Amino acid sequence: MKDLKVPVTTLPKIGPKTGELLRNLNIETIEDLLTHFPFRYEDLAEIKRIKNLEINESTTIEVIIQDINNVFTRNGKKLTKATAVDATGQIEVVWFNQHYLTSSIKKGKRYYLTGKVGGFNNKKNFVSPQYEVVSENSLNSGRLVPVYNETKGINSKWIRDKVHFILSNLIEIDPLEDILPEDLRVKEKFRNINDSLNMIHFPENQSEIKEARERIAFEEIFLELLQVERQKHDWHQSFQGIELEFNRYEEELNKMISSLPFTLTQAQRNVLEEIKKDVKLKHPMNRLLEGDVGSGKTIVAIIAAYLCHLNGYKTLYMAPTAILAKQHYDTYMDFLGEFGVEVKLLTGTNKIEVMSSKNDIIVGTHALLFAENIHNVGLIIIDEQHKFGVEQRAKLLTMGTKEAKPNLLTMTATPIPRTLALTIYGDLDLSVLDAVPNKDKKITTKVMKETHRNKVMEWILDKGEQAFIVCPLIEDSESEMFADVKAAETEYKKLKAGVFKNVSIGLLHGRMTSQEKDKVMEDFRNKKYQVLVATPVIEVGVDIPDATIIVIESAERFGLASLHQLRGRVGRGKKEGYCFLFMSKYSAKSYDRLLNLEKMHSGMELAEIDMQNRGQGDVFGTMQHGFKKFKVADLSDLEMIQRAKNRAQEYFKNIDKYPRLKDVIISENILIHNN
Ligand code: ADP
Ligand code: MG
Repeated sequence: MKDLKVPVTTLPKIGPKTGELLRNLNIETIEDLLTHFPFRYEDLAEIKRIKNLEINESTTIEVIIQDINNVFTRNGKKLTKATAVDATGQIEVVWFNQHYLTSSIKKGKRYYLTGKVGGFNNKKNFVSPQYEVVSENSLNSGRLVPVYNETKGINSKWIRDKVHFILSNLIEIDPLEDILPEDLRVKEKFRNINDSLNMIHFPENQSEIKEARERIAFEEIFLELLQVERQKHDWHQSFQGIELEFNRYEEELNKMISSLPFTLTQAQRNVLEEIKKDVKLKHPMNRLLEGDVGSGKTIVAIIAAYLCHLNGYKTLYMAPTAILAKQHYDTYMDFLGEFGVEVKLLTGTNKIEVMSSKNDIIVGTHALLFAENIHNVGLIIIDEQHKFGVEQRAKLLTMGTKEAKPNLLTMTATPIPRTLALTIYGDLDLSVLDAVPNKDKKITTKVMKETHRNKVMEWILDKGEQAFIVCPLIEDSESEMFADVKAAETEYKKLKAGVFKNVSIGLLHGRMTSQEKDKVMEDFRNKKYQVLVATPVIEVGVDIPDATIIVIESAERFGLASLHQLRGRVGRGKKEGYCFLFMSKYSAKSYDRLLNLEKMHSGMELAEIDMQNRGQGDVFGTMQHGFKKFKVADLSDLEMIQRAKNRAQEYFKNIDKYPRLKDVIISENILIHNN
């Protein structure tokens, strides 16, 4: 078998310069080029007869070139004129400024010409068509023609040619060995990899495209899931976890739970049961808790932390920002202070003596990672959007005892369908809070027409409650694509000088330092501002209990799930919340899509609509998971994911029987998933 992981420049007629260009397409090796798959196909299979050509249509004809000559027009333009014939007639063909064509297009030879028909009724012509010699395997016409992502200096035609060379000169002679075991291919009715590669690049018909894409997508997901199985297996095998006992502390725990100002939902109780079971096991818990905004994840975390405290161990709670850490610290104090639990706050600016007690709860930011001498940690709770490197993960796991590792609970509000979550975070166990406690407390949402803008702003002014105004960009963009998109800075200045000239107004955006951001948020929380103009950086978890109104500009640019998270920022206190959506580019389609937010109040349902609308793009665009990009596989194909998951479990159990599969499961040790 040929080694395809060698530089693409080892192919004939690809020099260092072309190699440079290919790098723009992330192509470095022959394998990269071979797996640079078409993103669509042009159907040039239909060959038109000259007699039937219609003006302005784009099509392909199969002709003999009867005559070809270079001419100059009166004003000095260079033309190449040819006469092409087929069995039904003849047509004039014209190219501009390509006099060299007379030496490459041969009189009397058979060609495909692909292009646009021009001329007048009684005299049609073909202007600047692409040409290709007719042969048994023409790549560029007379067939389904693959279209690739291109870059300057590298077009689809070039790629077709090279891919064809690899397929017919390297692989045809010395076929690739399949990674998918033969028995699996038989069960799934898949062709071998060589046929599949041929079919995805140069299909005979549409069903070959479908077949090849399915097989390649399956392989991508299957291999990823096999890794996930392995990581899970390693986690269970190699660590001793701190075991937390529940029965002994049942009474204390129940006392705390009955002191809450509400009763737990069934969903919350189910999740607690899952956690209790998990922390008793020999290996450390590694669980993801997924729940919509407002589903009550915090109290679940607090109860778990209390359980850990009762067992005599510390709990670390990591929030994404200092302001959120402070917010959670207050909540922990509220709920646990009266039970004699010490709660401490550790952020970058607020270092404390962390050695004081063996079973306190430390709330902090990622500063916790740099704290020295934190030991005896039984539980680590990680809230939202943390990115951890391998070393940081390893550091967290050293914070247990000499003998055992801490349990991990990761929380996220990103709505991902269960099957998909199991894939992406497949080495974690998954708990879902699938019910929101205050169901009837919905945020009144309205998609607004531009003509109502002044009314809305005046209404906000009248109401006198705190409001967010969210704009997608920070500053006005020079790019045409963003010409209509609202920019926070411009909007801030405009509002400050206009409707809101008599109220205090703040600005928050992602280019500020985290201290600056915290300061603005803190000021807003303390009501120094009534109105805050912001970019979507406020999406993550911030609680401003008195903010009741959110206006979202250029709303058509966001996915529904993101909009749902944004509106979850308001109405968190006692008062009712309102969300107004404005569009900067009106279309009936976007309008209808946004209307879903008026009717629907479940993040998961909205995420599913996003998926149907635009595939995986939007939901995952806003997610920060360290998940690899697939070339063909589509994460919204849940049916396929489930199928691949089942197979991955089946084959992992017998992995020793499949040495080649075993080889490709790379031994990267992921301890905590990037979330
Ligand atoms: P999130 O999942 O977004 O972090 P929180 O934990 O902040 O949600 O909870 C949202 C609000 O709902 C909080 O004010 C919390 O006190 C309240 N809450 C949590 N659980 C319940 C419950 N079972 N019944 C009523 N209110 C609850
Ligand atoms: Mg929360």
